[in-house]
Amino acid sequence: MPELPEVETSRRGISPHIIGTLITDVIIRQPQLRWKIPADLLAHIQNRKLINIDRRAKYLLLNFESGTLLIHLGMSGSLRICPLDSKPEKHDHAELLFENCLLRYTDPRRFGAILWLGLNPQDSTLLSILGPEPLSADFTGEHLFQLAGKRKLPVKQFIMDQKVVTGVGNIYATEALFMAGISPIRGAGNISLKRYQQLAIAIKEILQEAIKQGGTTLKDFVGGDGKPGYFQQTLHIYGKTGDNCPKCQTALKSLKLASRNSVYCPKCQK
Ligand SMILES: [Zn+2]
Repeated sequence: MPELPEVETSRRGISPHIIGTLITDVIIRQPQLRWKIPADLLAHIQNRKLINIDRRAKYLLLNFESGTLLIHLGMSGSLRICPLDSKPEKHDHAELLFENCLLRYTDPRRFGAILWLGLNPQDSTLLSILGPEPLSADFTGEHLFQLAGKRKLPVKQFIMDQKVVTGVGNIYATEALFMAGISPIRGAGNISLKRYQQLAIAIKEILQEAIKQGGTTLKDFVGGDGKPGYFQQTLHIYGKTGDNCPKCQTALKSLKLASRNSVYCPKCQK
């Protein structure tokens, strides 16, 4: 599943090819994604210039003079830049045609989304509920500590709640809790401010490192048919149940939290 670093890498990969150019046409082959692609999408953006592309959580926001188009990659979506005359393949559900190239949306499982948000995207219920961006100055240990209050919810679920902080998926929650030495099942309200400060720093460092690794794949966004944006990352414990802890050599354990697998070191994480 594309996580925040993959979405940010997608943004950086496609931006230089299409920003500042006009949309000439929209091709929708399969409108039924997680929600239906609006049938009148072309009318909103035809002959409009793409001003820039923002990212909020795992949403890409393509800002035109006439409003904002939201793209979400869902479970299996990807974007790539292709020549205007390139032939679509099976899961290539939609294309935005620009002056010099097209932006192709591919999504085998169709859990993604392409939605028109108009001129006030921040009012969309998809965006208005979101907490701070993890890499922004608004996201701090104090923020986590204040929101945690007396909550008994396991801290891993707490930091994966989009209202608390956006874009911390299972991989990054697992890795950040390990780096900060906090057990995934510790109650959110039972963690000191100092430990939350360490956790916020860990989340930022891990995401930044992943985005840096994604930077090596930017060329993959042009042409080809792979899955641009999906890249190998250096992970310490995610997916490594039974391996030795890289800090203390104890065997890593795992448990299920809200149906997600959670790897942890029983010795290093308290
Ligand atoms: Zn350990």
